[in-house]
Amino acid sequence: MKISKQHNLLIFGPQGSGKGTQAEILSKKFGIPAISAGAALRRIADEDSERGKKVKEYLNKGELVPGDLTNEIMRERILEDDCEKGFIFDGFPRNEKQMNFILKQGIPIDLLIVLQLSDEDGVSRIAGRRTCANGHPYHIKSDPPKIEGFCDDPCKLPLFQREDETAEAIKERLRIYHEETEPLIETLRERGILTLEIDARPKIQEIANEIQKKILETHGSL
Ligand code: AMP
Repeated sequence: MKISKQHNLLIFGPQGSGKGTQAEILSKKFGIPAISAGAALRRIADEDSERGKKVKEYLNKGELVPGDLTNEIMRERILEDDCEKGFIFDGFPRNEKQMNFILKQGIPIDLLIVLQLSDEDGVSRIAGRRTCANGHPYHIKSDPPKIEGFCDDPCKLPLFQREDETAEAIKERLRIYHEETEPLIETLRERGILTLEIDARPKIQEIANEIQKKILETHGSL
């Protein structure tokens, strides 16, 4: 059984739950792009422009970028050819205004995946994250580099913490998730959108297997 001609998925989860990682795995498995609102906004924040500067301030504080910018980026992105068969939204919608935008645009949603993780576990995962300027990710406990503080060969660049992964910014991002994003789960459920709740504590591949198993159980396939 097929869900619909297009397969449009949303993935929710608190910081540190591995949303982005799972979105990428699903993307490869089902051949539809994972579209990360955060990554798109980080690209804008890197622009040498007034707009870039403003976006960067919100990102660094862990606050949602206000206004219609994110809605517009996401709307334009799904018009691209590679979204013909569907897409996975990672980090969008994050509040009621963005969800209403999706509904008003008539963008059909087939499935919502919710990764579940306690704030405590999420904070400890994120606090240990380090990255180099090329974006290679490490975790000081679960995935440390060979030489402390430096990326492995051939990169060897110093590792740093993302500015929005400091304790203060993470606290704010979790607050937003619980207060603004989590309530959308019930609203989407009431609208008849199937919701899969997934334990985000196991290893990456185990979580991915569980998601795929549940999709097969509920939809036969995508
Ligand atoms: P993420 O990589 O998904 O954790 O997002 C990183 C940051 O990008 C967030 O803390 C926000 O500052 C911004 N951001 C991500 N998604 C959205 C969104 N849907 N609306 C507004 N700002 C967002």
